[in-house]
Amino acid sequence: MADRQWLSENCRSDYDIVSRRIIMKNVFTAHRLFTPLEEIAEPVVVVADGRIVEIFSRAQKDVPSGTPVVDFGDAILSPGFFDIHLHGGAGVDLMRAPLSELPRLGHFLTQHGVTGYFPTTVAAPLDATYAVLERLADAIEAAAPRNAESVQARPLGIHLEGPFLSHKRRGVHPPEYLVEPTVPIFDRLWQAARGHVSMITIAPEIPGAIEVIAEAAKRDVCVSIGHSDSQLATARDAVAAGARHATHTFNAMRPLDHREPGILGEVLSDDTITADLIADGIHVSPEVVKVFLHSKGRERAVLITDAMSATGMPDGRYQLGPIDVDVKDGKCTANGSLAGSVLTMDRAVRNVTRFSDWSLRDAVRAATFNPASAVGLTKTHGVMAAGASADFTVLNSSGDVLKTIVAGRGA
Ligand SMILES: [Zn+2]
Repeated sequence: MADRQWLSENCRSDYDIVSRRIIMKNVFTAHRLFTPLEEIAEPVVVVADGRIVEIFSRAQKDVPSGTPVVDFGDAILSPGFFDIHLHGGAGVDLMRAPLSELPRLGHFLTQHGVTGYFPTTVAAPLDATYAVLERLADAIEAAAPRNAESVQARPLGIHLEGPFLSHKRRGVHPPEYLVEPTVPIFDRLWQAARGHVSMITIAPEIPGAIEVIAEAAKRDVCVSIGHSDSQLATARDAVAAGARHATHTFNAMRPLDHREPGILGEVLSDDTITADLIADGIHVSPEVVKVFLHSKGRERAVLITDAMSATGMPDGRYQLGPIDVDVKDGKCTANGSLAGSVLTMDRAVRNVTRFSDWSLRDAVRAATFNPASAVGLTKTHGVMAAGASADFTVLNSSGDVLKTIVAGRGA
């Protein structure tokens, strides 16, 4: 009996893994690989214990003998997509969902190539937000690779979208839940999340914001300016205080004026900061997506989805935290304003190749390495390199997702 118990506790994962033709140490081959900083032809990826140990080309040396090989034929391997702005999907709203629903979202995301994401809050009553942050911290701590029972995208850190947003550029965030930033409130949010706040979107022009920006940056949080009506000088002050990114460029921002450029003048012209964009062709026109890509360049453009619970679901009425959202023909609105998206990251990547002259590798970089770089995680995520988590996506040459691997296991 003891033996049987030992077997069921210790060998089940071996059995599951074998049934997926993947074991603890494994080799993956394909036709091409995007690191994504460079391209490797006929790549061999050696994975052990959920991490990449080595990558080389078959032109350099042979596939190690005696190790099982999963060959993806003429496909492309890329790092798993990393979405730093996600509110939900597959009917799951991250402000409301109990932990038990997260695997459904995680599995849905892997079908679209995503292996890591930042659960993103919306403005809500502070007490409710603290409770959400505690739950999301539980999800992040429970999602360590070895704990995962099935193959699913993992929450890697929390993005606070609010409550420190501009009333004028709040989008659908309810005005009654917007709060003037103070370091004590920021600290309370931080404590509730047990230090898992990895990103914050903040409007730099509201009183108290610059102080909170400096404090958040000191704690290694990626401070992102957005939902803002800021003038150019204030946006620059925010960057000087430690802000290093911008949230859904053009959306919920003071519009660009060629003589009064405002926050967009800073976001588009400052080569020291990264910025993200919702490339669904609805939030920003395809032509302006191209303008964005050209101004931020291949090193600093980041793709996000801003996806909400309706993603992957039929048209209808859905929740975005405390907000009721109507979804029709791919457009999410609440009281006439755009409210999140139903975009998936694989589609965002393909859209970039359609809307601009960027190659698939360039577009993949904006969904992998660049977001990981913006939030300081490129040692482990967004990159195919020795030491990184074995999270990758198998694509065809059109950018369709054929398979997704998380911690060396296939979804
Ligand atoms: Zn959002």
